[in-house]
Amino acid sequence: MDLLVVGSGFFGLTIAERAAAAGRKVAVIDRRSHIGGNAYSEAEPETGIEVHRYGAHLFHTSNPTVWEYVNRFTTFTDYVHRVYTNHKGVVYPLPINLGTINQFFQAAYGPDEAKAVVNELAGEFDTKSAANLEEKAIALIGRPLYEAFIRDYTAKQWQTDPKDLPAEVISRLPVRYTYDNRYFNDTWEGLPTDGYTAWLERMADHPNIDVKLDTDFFDPSQPLNKAATVGQLPIVYTGPVDRYFDYAEGALSWRTLDFEEEVLEVGDFQGTSVMNYADATVPYTRIHEFKHFHPERADRYPTDKTVIMREYSRFAEGKDEPYYPVNTPHDRAGLLAYRDLAKGESGVHFGGRLGTYQYLDMHMAIGSALSMWNNQLA
Ligand code: FAD
Ligand code: UDP
Repeated sequence: MDLLVVGSGFFGLTIAERAAAAGRKVAVIDRRSHIGGNAYSEAEPETGIEVHRYGAHLFHTSNPTVWEYVNRFTTFTDYVHRVYTNHKGVVYPLPINLGTINQFFQAAYGPDEAKAVVNELAGEFDTKSAANLEEKAIALIGRPLYEAFIRDYTAKQWQTDPKDLPAEVISRLPVRYTYDNRYFNDTWEGLPTDGYTAWLERMADHPNIDVKLDTDFFDPSQPLNKAATVGQLPIVYTGPVDRYFDYAEGALSWRTLDFEEEVLEVGDFQGTSVMNYADATVPYTRIHEFKHFHPERADRYPTDKTVIMREYSRFAEGKDEPYYPVNTPHDRAGLLAYRDLAKGESGVHFGGRLGTYQYLDMHMAIGSALSMWNNQLA
């Protein structure tokens, strides 16, 4: 064996696939009972509707290298992601655009008028010097829109004062002075035609790749454990960086999600794939309705049943799955200490969302794995 990859998410599988294609023998271990990390999906047994097990995953990228690479394993549908939000029982389009603004202010502003109104309301802070999520959001859209659509949703999602969250979190959401309500700005977007798992399995399908599931790197009873492998061969580790070092610098804080899935005896529950709930009075952040991700499968999906999933967010503790790095100033100090430890861990390469304590979209995880392969491992 030439390389051990810990974690079979997009980061780990991209490394494994590149190494195998270069003639190297690779072992991939994952503590879960399936490959694919958080992008894993499967058919809900009663309806056959593809459900993204760890929350809805939408693929989008503007990186031509990544787009060319992913198209080796799957084609993509022409799905375009659009999200709506329910505020005080009224549904508005997201991300905040001219439609949202006019509906909110019960107005018919043109783009320049809307900009002038928002600028007037946004004067408290400047987008360039905004120090945290709250300042950045108010600088972008003004306090009334912030309080309606961002403040309580963000509080539900992060359980952290928006003043302690980094400004970048909100920068992921564009603000548009047109009626364009595409959620993403990227050049390419779509969903894998045969589903995520088929895509992930094709990446792992190589005689040089040996995947072992239900195998934890920290379990001393399995042969590819930490003590037996570190220093013996190159390792790409994509699990949580703090866990690797036994929390020597303290635990980094993560958000986890609880998903409540239900099969309903109706053909269509909400008429769209994702409905956010902006208000503090509703305990969940959003409801996913999976059949709407694949309108092209309408003839294969039941017309009298649908699968919905309510998403609840909270701090991760104990054995909870770490999903989103919270990234408070305290976490950022801890991360710097872990980065120093990681530099001293010769032969171990830390990558991916958990290994670098960074929010990475799929295209970013794949892009950074390709860079790690080309620049450090090849
Ligand atoms: P992961 O997919 O988390 O894979 C890490 C793997 O390591 C896991 O399988 C885990 O079991 C394994 N592992 C951890 N510790 C050990 C251990 N000790 N031993 C063995 N194995 C271990 N991206 C998008 O582009 N679009 C989206 O719409 C989108 N939506 C998302 C929604 C949610 C709720 C979440 C959480 C993420 C979303 N993402 C989305 C991000 C996407 O999931 C990540 O980009 C991608 O999963 C990153 O891959 P990764 O390999 O770094 O990590
Ligand atoms: N956000 C919000 N209201 C919404 C949608 C998003 O306040 O209806 C904020 C929230 O803080 C979130 C951030 O914008 O964390 C980024 O949104 P995105 O949809 O990218 O969040 P994800 O669920 O992918 O983290």
